Amino acid sequence: MGLLLSGLLIGAALSPAEAEWLRRSENIMGTRVAVELWQTPGRQADDCADRVFDEMRRIDALMSPFRPDSEVSVINRDAAIEPVSVSPELYRLIEKSLEFSRLSNGAFDISFASVGYRYDYREGKQPDDDSIRELLDNIDYRQIRLADGRIRFGKPGMRIDLGGIAKGYAVDRSIDILKRCGIRHALVSAGGDSRLLGDRNGRPWMIGIRHPRRENAVALRLPLDNSAISTSGDYERFFISNGERVHHIINPRTGKSAHNSWSSTVIGPDATTTDALSTTLFILGAERGLKLIDQLDGLDAIIIDATGKTHYSSGLMAPEPSSG
Ligand code: ADP
Ligand code: MG
Repeated sequence: MGLLLSGLLIGAALSPAEAEWLRRSENIMGTRVAVELWQTPGRQADDCADRVFDEMRRIDALMSPFRPDSEVSVINRDAAIEPVSVSPELYRLIEKSLEFSRLSNGAFDISFASVGYRYDYREGKQPDDDSIRELLDNIDYRQIRLADGRIRFGKPGMRIDLGGIAKGYAVDRSIDILKRCGIRHALVSAGGDSRLLGDRNGRPWMIGIRHPRRENAVALRLPLDNSAISTSGDYERFFISNGERVHHIINPRTGKSAHNSWSSTVIGPDATTTDALSTTLFILGAERGLKLIDQLDGLDAIIIDATGKTHYSSGLMAPEPSSG
């Protein structure tokens, strides 16, 4: 997971006031989902947390490309043959994904999966160069056509995967559930995507960004409230082949792992946006990535480049270099 959450780092030493925090976590969507919320007297905080985990499971069942009966799997099976009806919810998220593709000139592209499905990071498998050349043409978001509630792929062999945006979307849905539950201070995270509702009861939430090369070390900590933060890194799902790190963020131009960054973090108003943009910035690298972020309102970013140097968007002040 890209983010180490302060609450999880602080561990068990709870002050009396802390005893009102409800903390739960479960493995869903191939990652660790954590909910931390301030219990309001008279409210059923546990029920609210249950609803969040149910929502995460619902979204996974809808969008997982690994479940043959998910809507995304049905699309991947049929949309190159004929237009496929899509639920309004998934339709909107695909539309949103295409917006990020246009914004990033194709760095973010859910049809990366046309090549991406041939990687298996757990098994250490990757497609050979000939296969990549053959499949690369199928990565092209402009060939994903949406109209009248239906989706059609412009090329046979195309596939989509919402792995770069779905967890952020699920986190946003979860925060909405907690708001409707009357909760006013909460943190929801799914792997590297988190969103904070309110502050941590009078103090900011302290969110740590994991060091991309040192196991269990924190690269930096940020005080945040009422915002979303996502980190994408090359240390998440990877294997080493011929000295090269093969990992799960794919450059759509090459069909191979992107190598401009070690990690990228985006801070913004909602987790759908920060999730998609952290994946995008990882691929673009520090120079092009921060240029893009600086053009967008309400968004900031921190990129650790492939030499380990940290770069900040103009909305964040770089810390003073430490002496000694
Ligand atoms: P995670 O939290 O799973 O580490 P990230 O936000 O870092 O996710 O995004 C990585 C995921 O995004 C990959 O597992 C894959 O599903 C998807 N992905 C990879 N390359 C791209 C791309 N070029 N465009 C959109 N999504 C991508
Ligand atoms: Mg992402």
